[in-house]
Amino acid sequence: MSKPYSGGCACGKIRYEISGEPIFQNDCQCRDCQRKSGTGHGSYLTFAGRGSVNLQGEAQQWDVVGDSGNAKTRAFCPTCGSPVYLTFSAAPELFTIHAASLDDPGRYRPQAVTYTVRGYAWDYLDPALAKFDTMPPA
Ligand SMILES: [Zn+2]
Ligand SMILES: [Zn+2]
Repeated sequence: MSKPYSGGCACGKIRYEISGEPIFQNDCQCRDCQRKSGTGHGSYLTFAGRGSVNLQGEAQQWDVVGDSGNAKTRAFCPTCGSPVYLTFSAAPELFTIHAASLDDPGRYRPQAVTYTVRGYAWDYLDPALAKFDTMPPA
């Protein structure tokens, strides 16, 4: 088993440690991820199995309905404002972290770009990645 994925917010009040490997790693160019990230896309690692997530600190949460129509809950640090993780009411087993919240962001290995329909030419991503107009078919 590889070492856990650990990370947190910029000020250190929110910390997580996740055992196991991510089931999906993607750059998302949807409008919501653009607004939240402040640039052209968000970068995410998604894990299945909330039992393998050890979370410390109280995150502030807000719900947003994404381009897909599904509600997601974004969790950020109330002190430093860093986005740290998100959860999905329709898929409670999933736990998604922001790639740059990792202690070692070099572990992020994007597999796909989602919502390219919302992407901008200035947000140029690796052409070798699988591209999806919206989300990959389930
Ligand atoms: Zn913080
Ligand atoms: Zn998105």
